[in-house]
Amino acid sequence: EAKNAKALHGVQYTQSMSDKINKRLAYVDEMKQGLARDDFRLYYQAQYNRNNEICGAEALLRRFHPVHGLESPVYIPIAEESNLILAIGQWVLEQACRDIHQLEQQGLPSNFTKIAVNVSAKQLIQHDFQEKVLQTVKQYKISPEHLSLELTESLLVENIAHSIELIGHLKAEKIDCAIDDFGTGYSSLAYLKRIPASLLKIDRSFVTNIDKSKSSAAIANMIISLAKTLNMKVLAEGVETQEELYCLQSLGCHDFQGFYFSKPMPFDDFSALLAASQNRKKSQ
Ligand code: C2E
Ligand code: MG
Ligand code: MG
Ligand code: MG
Repeated sequence: EAKNAKALHGVQYTQSMSDKINKRLAYVDEMKQGLARDDFRLYYQAQYNRNNEICGAEALLRRFHPVHGLESPVYIPIAEESNLILAIGQWVLEQACRDIHQLEQQGLPSNFTKIAVNVSAKQLIQHDFQEKVLQTVKQYKISPEHLSLELTESLLVENIAHSIELIGHLKAEKIDCAIDDFGTGYSSLAYLKRIPASLLKIDRSFVTNIDKSKSSAAIANMIISLAKTLNMKVLAEGVETQEELYCLQSLGCHDFQGFYFSKPMPFDDFSALLAASQNRKKSQ
């Protein structure tokens, strides 16, 4: 009897596994249609410097689902399992360049640095990724300084030699890279020294409640000193309260991003926010 139960269990297990696979395939298919239907949008979250000026923004993917409405990128891990992430990633890059072009046309504030785009593993390891980026920048006639790429620390660690080379080449073409979610990816200091990235982004997990957590403050402090030693800028992501901001400022963090300042928003709203902050400065 025990044997039968086990066999039965085995059957159920494979059944649920194939259900899962079918569900994922259907989902990928649906995303493909979404891409064709133009369901995807780029939202922008402003980044601020120590003078409370907007110094850049991160482009974040959203999907406007015909039934479910606006969705956060919960689907990215699924898209990453198929080659669909390449098509989505290219769409993101092109849309960001289109938007940068419009910002350049309307005039950027002098302290504005760049728009950052997130890059996934499959994109990074494509042999012609660098050419694709350069070609897109050229196609939309933007100045390369206005675009930057965010690569997560764990992604870099898994592809270290390739990443070092890629980031170096992009830097020579004036496209900077940031190390995203820093502090969660177990990179060794020896690696970090060799990665020619320009910005370290302190992971949100060390920012949340930093004013109340000695260990978070100690880690953030270490990341900030590390960045300074390596001549990199450092940005804290996920700043939600004034207390967190004060704490990060006192530790010497350069730039900030989070709901305390501003939420991700459609491009038109971001562009209006940027224009308004510029006018406010002029009238001061
Ligand atoms: P990430 O690159 O670390 O992006 C930051 C995430 O934190 C965003 O979530 C943003 O909305 C959220 N966030 C910002 N400020 C705060 C805050 O103060 N509090 C809290 N609780 N959250 C905050 P989102 O947009 O849901 O994106 C999640 C992740 O999905 C991103 O993490 C990134 O890894 C990935 N992603 C987003 N867009 C793209 C894309 O175009 N391509 C790729 N490959 N990945 C993307
Ligand atoms: Mg990011
Ligand atoms: Mg991040
Ligand atoms: Mg993060």
